[in-house]
Amino acid sequence: MRPVTEHDIRTSFVNCSKGEAKRLGLPKDLADQPWEDLDFLGWRDPGAPERAYLVAERDDRLVGVSLRATSGGSRGFTSRSMCSLCLTTHPGGGVALMTARRTGESGRQGNSVGQYLCADLACSLYTRGRKQAAGDGVVVVEESLTPAEKAVRTRANLHSFLDKVTG
Ligand SMILES: [Zn+2]
Repeated sequence: MRPVTEHDIRTSFVNCSKGEAKRLGLPKDLADQPWEDLDFLGWRDPGAPERAYLVAERDDRLVGVSLRATSGGSRGFTSRSMCSLCLTTHPGGGVALMTARRTGESGRQGNSVGQYLCADLACSLYTRGRKQAAGDGVVVVEESLTPAEKAVRTRANLHSFLDKVTG
């Protein structure tokens, strides 16, 4: 994706109030993100760990989504879970249930959409082999896709998630 500024991010959110968008904590190293390798910018709020955000390009505009994270702590240390965007499997805690309030009337009625995502929202880096899931080598799911093909799949999964939030 193309590099984005603080202003771009704060004005991109579709499912939270302007006040929240103004106050939310940005990634500390925003200027140094590996933009060329990002399908979307995702991060946990440095000041509020249960909050997470993702910002993606859609049709030449930015769409930001505010998320609430619930860690799947009760699943046990040895179990692994899979991110629904990039399909990376992680040991316990590496995947979190993230819930997004839907936009518009549906959101005002309290409806939300939940998906299991990489807890650090670094899907783009996992698919490109720039970051490894903890415990890799114990259970390896062999995939024949290239990193570029995985990135295409991640973006497709992300877009269907965004459709559910805004649809
Ligand atoms: Zn992921």
